[in-house]
Amino acid sequence: MPAEHRSTFEPGAECRTQMHLARKGIVSPEMERVAEREELPGELIRDEVARGRMIIPANVHHRSLDPMAIGLKARVKINSNIGNSPTSSSLAEEVEKLTVSERWGADTVMDLSTGKRIDETREAIIDAASVPIGTVPIYQALESVSSIEDLNGDVLVENIAHQAAQGVDYMTIHAGVRLEHLPLCQHRVTGIVSRGGGILARWMVAHMAENPLYERFDDILEICARHDVSISLGDGLRPGSIADASDAAQFAELETLGELTLRAWERDVQVMIEGPGHIPLDQLEMNVRKQQELCHEAPFYTLGPLVTDIAPGYDHITSAIGAAIVGWHGTSMLCYVTPKEHLGLPNAEDVKQGLIAYRIAAHAADLARGNRRAAAWDRELSKARFSFDWKRQFELALDPETAQAMHDETLADDYFKSAEFCSMCGPKYCPMHNFKDIDWEAVRGAVAERKRTRSGTPIAGHPVSGDSQAGERLATTAV
Ligand code: SF4
Repeated sequence: MPAEHRSTFEPGAECRTQMHLARKGIVSPEMERVAEREELPGELIRDEVARGRMIIPANVHHRSLDPMAIGLKARVKINSNIGNSPTSSSLAEEVEKLTVSERWGADTVMDLSTGKRIDETREAIIDAASVPIGTVPIYQALESVSSIEDLNGDVLVENIAHQAAQGVDYMTIHAGVRLEHLPLCQHRVTGIVSRGGGILARWMVAHMAENPLYERFDDILEICARHDVSISLGDGLRPGSIADASDAAQFAELETLGELTLRAWERDVQVMIEGPGHIPLDQLEMNVRKQQELCHEAPFYTLGPLVTDIAPGYDHITSAIGAAIVGWHGTSMLCYVTPKEHLGLPNAEDVKQGLIAYRIAAHAADLARGNRRAAAWDRELSKARFSFDWKRQFELALDPETAQAMHDETLADDYFKSAEFCSMCGPKYCPMHNFKDIDWEAVRGAVAERKRTRSGTPIAGHPVSGDSQAGERLATTAV
């Protein structure tokens, strides 16, 4: 991305964040770019960033970044997770997953690598990425010690500083999991399911001490202010099952995240709040309201939520249902879930399936939130569909290749690209085609006549639509 979309700072500047600039009244190049992408005034972007209701994750070292925003006034965004694991995947595969993620519309990408060559993988991903890159630094910190118990505040802060200097745009920091919260998890059906939350819980129990990320939060803020790393305050105690949804542990942590948000804002550090998890439909709106209230409207970034636990292999669907609804109620970014959730490390096809499901969810939320550009897209596609402009319909589809392949599976010939039916209903029954044959003047005349005579009997001489004849004509010419 050209340098005109990136701010420059004095070499010794202590604070280089977008929030800092916004609070000084500056519409930065990043804010201008966001305004252009969101079709909103630059001043509105500045004001939203200044009050913390919108963030622009834009590490000053990530020069290939095309700035984007996450917040209530922006379109709903989606995040894709990539990254190797100790048992699977290579550097080339991870860069491929980044390409797939960008191609299918990921607005941000989190590198969750826990395997070998973490630094090389991350550097390759940041170099190639035009979208913001997020990480969970505790994973790399854990790779540098022999066991969870050996972690300490210094190791964690050093890793955060290291990744900030590499150009990571936002980091999940599980600073809200407190020692005093752990007993609230004892009787849960699925305990603690966040990797970061689980690591910190084990560390706190081993040392009977407070979470080092909470204790060292001021040091973390200093690093984030210098490099403009946005903090994604992690939900280490998110519910991992419907039975555990909206429990005391989840909301105790959320309250702490609200306190940490205010501390970050005092230092002009941008913040978003991570959210659940597994939540039934009837509790979704309440969860969004509670987050907005306790965390002072900082952008909400949810994983799903999954609205049922019973469909391993299809959790991109169970979670996209929840994602669409929380997006509608005010969640700003949706972390995708792939079909492999709970089952294994996703491959490139799983990444695509997860992203498509989440683009549908985010778009549905944008529509419900009154986004005019989203509504125009739906209208355009519907117009192409109703006029049987198949090529245009494919072009406008979220996944054009799949849409065309499915159509062509039964009607591949070029002739059918202008046919007024598809193999779903066939020419005789195609209701859209039949609707088009209606003689509206005749219908209006018949209705007026019926009203006039107040008779329930049909009017002689008025033609019926003739639709089935037209359908048969088409079928004949098609063969
Ligand atoms: S045949 Fe049925 S599914 Fe196909 S275009 Fe017509 S109405 Fe739509």
